[in-house]
Amino acid sequence: MHSSDLKNLTIAVIGAGYGGAAAAKALSLLGAKVNVYEQASQIREVGAGIGLRPSSMDQFRQWGIFDAIAKVSSASDYFEILSATGHPIMKDEWPGMEEYAVKTHTHLIHRGDFIEALVGVLPEGMVHLGHKLARIEDRGDRAVATFANGVTIEADLIVGADGIKSTVREQLFSNQQPVFAGEHAYRAVVDVDDAHGLVVDDNLRMYVGRGTKVYVLPLRHRGQMSFDVTALRTDSSWSPQPSKDDLMAMVEGFDERIVATAGDLDMSKVNVRAVYDIDPVDTWHSDSVALLGDAAHSMCHHQGQGANSAILDAGGLADALREAASVKEALALYQATRKPVTDELQRISRQGWSEDEINDVFPGQKPAAQQPQS
Ligand SMILES: Cc1cc2nc3c(=O)[nH]c(=O)nc-3n(C[C@H](O)[C@H](O)[C@H](O)COP(=O)(O)OP(=O)(O)OC[C@H]3O[C@@H](n4cnc5c(N)ncnc54)[C@H](O)[C@@H]3O)c2cc1C
Repeated sequence: MHSSDLKNLTIAVIGAGYGGAAAAKALSLLGAKVNVYEQASQIREVGAGIGLRPSSMDQFRQWGIFDAIAKVSSASDYFEILSATGHPIMKDEWPGMEEYAVKTHTHLIHRGDFIEALVGVLPEGMVHLGHKLARIEDRGDRAVATFANGVTIEADLIVGADGIKSTVREQLFSNQQPVFAGEHAYRAVVDVDDAHGLVVDDNLRMYVGRGTKVYVLPLRHRGQMSFDVTALRTDSSWSPQPSKDDLMAMVEGFDERIVATAGDLDMSKVNVRAVYDIDPVDTWHSDSVALLGDAAHSMCHHQGQGANSAILDAGGLADALREAASVKEALALYQATRKPVTDELQRISRQGWSEDEINDVFPGQKPAAQQPQS
């Protein structure tokens, strides 16, 4: 679209998570008038770390916000997979580091710092808190959103970045519900001094036991590490309430530093959630509404690609609007570019465990969101 058309475009983004905030940044750089509507009264994230891949960091460079993100993260060279007791299985450079004019690392970041930095680069007044989307309608060349607080807005384009339980997806594109992956994820942030020597550099390590994976993600710029335990479990309630004994059973037989770290955790500060994803959604867009991030393609976290995909969606949507002749054409181009990539990531991320591990926990009744490793 011509830059004069882009400047006249009004865009509403539903949700101020990583996907919504990134979309707001990318789309406002086109010159469009962007507003973000977030249901929460405060922007918050759970205490845990994630890895921002080179492709995401390059996107931030293109948007002029690389330094804002780099300031609150640590550059990492590689990731390593080890057995439960610490025997090396695989060690590899983060893919994509050499693909850009400047070597671009993966950056390890605390989720709270990341959302604060992303929202912090948006112009004052762009994000409207306390706006829970209740109803969305596509009227062809315009879309209309009504919020639970009674406010109604219209825009040329509405982006549904409202997460795994997306209202936009449910009302316009698919009423399929999230799918339980048969896993629980325990996430905590631990000071390096209390990490029993687990943090030795700035690289991610995954320790793999039978039915349990432990992710050690250093956040050395904070003097901390993110300590994440993911295990196959049958309880599908979204926020299970496991005991310390449950956690200790998961890490039994692991490297003694892992057992000691788990033993020291204050369970009231550990974030525990059941892992869900969604089946691929056939269509991500209508004429003036599009899905983005987890709303479009929530996936299990084994590959660490959910937030990264949301960032790349934001870049892909902005590129499509620049290249296509109209919003309608741009949304088709956006889906054609991004969906094949995320369909594949969704598929791979369901292969986190071997058939034996799954059978141990789910004899004869494998969860739908689990395809054993081949
Ligand atoms: C245990 C675990 C570990 C993970 N580790 C990684 C990792 O290492 N790397 C990685 O890339 N990804 C990881 N992910 C995935 C990543 O967290 C998600 O993919 C990412 O948060 C998706 O961002 P999003 O903005 O699309 O959705 P969300 O972060 O869910 O944001 C959606 C926003 O929309 C708002 N919202 C929802 N409904 C409404 C409504 N009706 N009206 C208004 N606002 C609404 C919500 O309040 C929220 O702010 C992990 C996920 C889990 C569960």
